Amino acid sequence: MLRTALLAASRSPRVRALVERGPTRAIVTRFVAGTTVDDVLAVVRELVADRLVTVDHLGENVTDRAGARATVGEYRVLIARLRDAGLADRAEVSVKLSALGQALERDAQAVTLEHARAVCAAAAAAGTTVTVDMEDHTTTDATLATVRELRTDHPWVGAVVQSQLRRTLADCRDLAHPGSRVRLCKGAYDEPASVAYRDPDEVRASFARCLDVLAAGGGLPMVATHDPAMIDLARSREPRELQMLYGVRPRAQQELAAEGERVRVYLPYGTDWYAYFMRRLAERPANVGFFLRSLLTRG
Ligand SMILES: Cc1cc2nc3c(=O)[nH]c(=O)nc-3n(C[C@H](O)[C@H](O)[C@H](O)COP(=O)(O)OP(=O)(O)OC[C@H]3O[C@@H](n4cnc5c(N)ncnc54)[C@H](O)[C@@H]3O)c2cc1C
Repeated sequence: MLRTALLAASRSPRVRALVERGPTRAIVTRFVAGTTVDDVLAVVRELVADRLVTVDHLGENVTDRAGARATVGEYRVLIARLRDAGLADRAEVSVKLSALGQALERDAQAVTLEHARAVCAAAAAAGTTVTVDMEDHTTTDATLATVRELRTDHPWVGAVVQSQLRRTLADCRDLAHPGSRVRLCKGAYDEPASVAYRDPDEVRASFARCLDVLAAGGGLPMVATHDPAMIDLARSREPRELQMLYGVRPRAQQELAAEGERVRVYLPYGTDWYAYFMRRLAERPANVGFFLRSLLTRG
């Protein structure tokens, strides 16, 4: 119930205006590196001491071409700064296709592909990689089609699948082949029962089935979860990369890295933090408590 309400609020302009005005800075900065490239580079430098990073420029559901072009510009700057700072071998980028044109009314697929190709070309020139985030189920086919196109020039492009979706085992079979980088997560969106498992145990069982298929395929499963049971499962598979979000279970991230695990942190930055932040609240009821306390103690 709470998860559904928070995910609905993540799409509400009215709640957005309220939250953005509130004294939320402390809890927002738990999950977001800051608003500028300088802010995020400072955090990347700290994290790469023991972990890898994937940097996300926050923004989604851009509905005009100029905005989608501007996203490409942001990524070009970010990638150039990672290269110049000597961080491109430890930090890649993650990108949401709805920030690159997938939410446009006209020519969405063609514009998105052109923009995503530009981001991938910049990454290739800098010696880093790109992973294409997965958004809600209405975009899955288009996103996977774009990833397939991008992989013809750049086979290292990472795909993302969500174990809460009923279709995902079949998607894993398509994606499980040598060289294929696939991030497996549970899924952060509120999906209907017609397309998704709603019961947490079913989502976990699906996660395990998907992991088996990806691990058998000879690619690199990038297991993106904070769930101890799923992490244990991943640690019995070779090869693997473990991925977690910035601000979530940081001590576990460090302990796993110290034990020799390849751990990558998903690190977002930018001014458009609202929807991302609300999805993080929805994942853990205790976060809502912290957030409400920060509102009550305003000033
Ligand atoms: C690197 C990475 C990339 C991702 N990319 C995508 C993507 O492209 N598309 C997509 O739909 N989803 C993405 N997600 C989000 C993912 O789908 C889940 O919503 C999220 O990871 C929570 O699920 P969980 O597997 O951690 O398990 P859960 O069962 O939700 O959590 C397990 C435990 O982890 C801790 N935890 C989990 N979330 C939080 C939080 N927000 N705050 C504090 N503690 C928490 C709690 O202790 C919780 O009990 C990504 C997640 C990660 C880690």
